[in-house]
Parts: sequence; C-alpha cells; structure tokens
Amino acid sequence: MLEIEGLRKRYGGTVALDGCTFTVAPKRLVGLLGPNGAGKTTLMRCLLGLVVPDGGEVRWLGAPLDGDRGRRFGYMPEERGLYPSMRVAEQVRYFAMLSGLPSAAAAEATTGVLHRVGASDLSERRVEELSHGNQQRIQLAVALVHDPEILVLDEPFAGLDPLGVDQFGALLLDLAADGTTVLFSSHQLDLVQHLCQDIVTIDRGRVVLAGELEQLQRATAHRRVTVVFAEPSTTAWTTGLPNITVERADDRHVQLRLEADSDPDHVLRAARTAGSVLRFDYEPPSLEELFREAVGR
Ligand code: ADP
Repeated sequence: MLEIEGLRKRYGGTVALDGCTFTVAPKRLVGLLGPNGAGKTTLMRCLLGLVVPDGGEVRWLGAPLDGDRGRRFGYMPEERGLYPSMRVAEQVRYFAMLSGLPSAAAAEATTGVLHRVGASDLSERRVEELSHGNQQRIQLAVALVHDPEILVLDEPFAGLDPLGVDQFGALLLDLAADGTTVLFSSHQLDLVQHLCQDIVTIDRGRVVLAGELEQLQRATAHRRVTVVFAEPSTTAWTTGLPNITVERADDRHVQLRLEADSDPDHVLRAARTAGSVLRFDYEPPSLEELFREAVGR
C-alpha cells in the first residue's frame, strides 16, 4: 500500500499541494485526475523525490519512503526522455546501467523488459523510426527496467490513437495484475473509466474524489435515464414528472437526469404514454459527471 498523507507544497504564493491525502492499493491501476494546475505533476514529483514537499509524508508498506525511491519507483514523465538516434536495446540498457545494474545484468534486464512490453522485435531499431505508440512502449520499458514496485506515469495516453490506447492500457493492466502498483495521470476520463478500478481526483492541491469507481458511482444520488422511441416524439411526457431534468433530446432520443428520490418505473410508464419505447437505460453517472461535480466547474 502506498500512502500519501497531508502533502503540502507551495511555490512562492502558489499553493500546489494543500494537504493531499489518499492511498493506492497494490495490484490496482489507479487514475489520477484533476484540471490543469490541480497539482498532479507536483504530487507525482513529490512521490518520486524530485520535489521536496513542505509537509506531509509518503509511506510504502507502512514505512516512510526515504532514499530508496529510485529503486522502488519507475517513472514515465510526460516529456519523453529518449535519445532519438539511439537503438532501442542500447538505450534501455543504458538506462538500466544508470539505475545501477552492472553491464551483464543490464543486458539481461533489457531483454526481459522489452519482451514484457511486447517490443522484442524493435531492439535494433532507432527510436526516431518508431511510431508514437511504440516509442511509448520503449519509454515504459525504460521506466520498468530496474523492476520497480511502483510505476508512476504522467499522461501516458496523450497522443496515442485508439489502437495504441488499447495496447498500452492492456500493458498497464497486466503490470498491475502482476503486482506492480500503477498510478497514472490523465485527462481522458472515458479511458480512465474504462481502465481503472480506482481513481483519485485532485483540485487546487486537495483530494476531492477518491476510491473505487463503482462505489463512487453507486454512492451518487442521481441517475441517468436514456429513452429511445421507435417513432419521433416530443418531451411533453416529461412535464410534471418530479425531480427530473431533460438534459438532451432529439426526435427519438431523450436523456434525463433523475435525482435520488425519483422512480424509474414512473418514468418508463410516462414514456410509454408518448410512444413505443425501443430502449430504456438506467445508469449511474459517468466518471466525467462525477469529475465535474467534484471540481464544481
Ligand atoms: P497539474 O499537473 O495538475 O497541471 P502542477 O502540479 O503542474 O499541476 O501545478 C500546480 C500548481 O503549481 C500550478 O498553479 C502551477 O502553476 C504551480 N507550479 C508547479 N510547478 C511550479 C514551479 N516549479 N514553480 C512555480 N509554480 C509551479
């Protein structure tokens, strides 16, 4: 378990972290969310020891983290740090040796990690020749070559096409399942909703929403109902239904927001008075809605 407790960091008059507290469970893929300027990068840098917080503590397996961060953490920064003209295996081996592995062990670790990220066949290619998705794999290999217990990634999905997102997401899920604790930041909420069991949302340096996504969704009072009619219809049938707001409507689709005490049966009965109902979906709010509510804008 990675525990972050009361982290504070100020840059002059700017408060970047304002008592940030949450835990990251092992074997879970955790999405770190927050608007621009929320403090995500500062938080990750504090975890890695690249920024010294003004207060608070980071604990791993119950003990405060100190000088052993380099060994325990793997980091994939947003700005890619690869050498474009160097060959892949040579590059990964170089970073392995920088992390302290002797030459033979670095070579062995390189072969192992390239296999792990599905890039064995790229060993002799130059980084500049690779697609963005494959460069990401190599960047991940560099972050993993010393076999860290905790992997921290800053916007790892930025710029990847949908196929690249799927492949990279599958890699992170495998790593988490194998026991690595994985925390990554992202602005792509649909992707985080799809991939992560747990999320942490920070805003203005504080945690505003954290926990298991399903539980957070269940705990929210309101629900979303989408009604699809067989024939064009209006929304006149919704008038008078208590605690309901029409969010979106076109000729056959109506999307409604139901507050806690509204009854979906009642809504369905009302919809049927307006026409033949092809589909009736009753869902908890999406991560995007939870996020908007938590950051209040
Ligand atoms: P995020 O990654 O969520 O966008 P950051 O951690 O980069 O947020 O920034 C949090 C706040 O701290 C912002 O207001 C940012 O301008 C400020 N900040 C971050 N790093 C520095 C720095 N090195 N010097 C001054 N201000 C900084």
